[in-house]
Amino acid sequence: RQDQLVQAKKLSSLGVLTSGVAHQLNNPLNNISTSCQILLEDLDQLDEDFIRRVLTNVEQEVARARDIVKGLLEFSRAKEFTIVPTNLNEVVAKTVRLISSQVPPGVRIETRVSENMVVEMDPQRMQQVFLNLFMNAIQAMPEGRGEIWVTAEYDQAAQQVLIRVRDTGCGMSEEVASKIFDPFFTTKEVGAGTGLGMSIAYGIVEKHRGHIEVESREGEGTTFTIILPVKRSEA
Ligand code: ADP
Repeated sequence: RQDQLVQAKKLSSLGVLTSGVAHQLNNPLNNISTSCQILLEDLDQLDEDFIRRVLTNVEQEVARARDIVKGLLEFSRAKEFTIVPTNLNEVVAKTVRLISSQVPPGVRIETRVSENMVVEMDPQRMQQVFLNLFMNAIQAMPEGRGEIWVTAEYDQAAQQVLIRVRDTGCGMSEEVASKIFDPFFTTKEVGAGTGLGMSIAYGIVEKHRGHIEVESREGEGTTFTIILPVKRSEA
């Protein structure tokens, strides 16, 4: 089940980023890895000039990897967004249905969103955001037990909607929380996490001229708040 979850999340992430391009990253990463191996193997015997050349190469490969990541993110932003008045509850419900087979029996997803709340959004993209948030929340419950709450409130004065996804998972330290929106940041085992889910969510929400914020306590849980602007005629 955990494998399926990881796979689904990987695919959904890459779907947004356009598949295949991520493979380009393997080249610079392999070169960096080889360079490090060379240095580590006979560091004492190597002369300084040689070490300098290898490190210069590493630096160039890191720059190349960074460019690829930048390109990926820009590409995903460049792809057309179709922002239309959308029933928020329906998008959340659809996402819950989509992952229902992957939710452990001990995890409950509770949705408290008014049935007639309409918000301007790209429904596909926002579904992706909820998917990524739910997957992470589930993965934050290693015992397979806990609750996920989805709520939404309309702030008339500020003309915005605040959507909260709260979980009773493992939570995270302040240091981790400050990095989760960085592309490729992950605390999960090699191969288990792409580190892209939250940066994609961030990019999508930003594209809606909104914000996504995180609040977390280790051992207690995490709350994500998505703030989306609302036109006066809606909600
Ligand atoms: P991935 O899930 O592939 O690691 P993400 O970008 O989706 O990549 O998440 C980055 C990191 O943020 C995770 O590795 C995890 O440490 C942390 N994280 C995200 N959501 C949660 C959550 N609900 N509870 C605890 N940690 C989380």
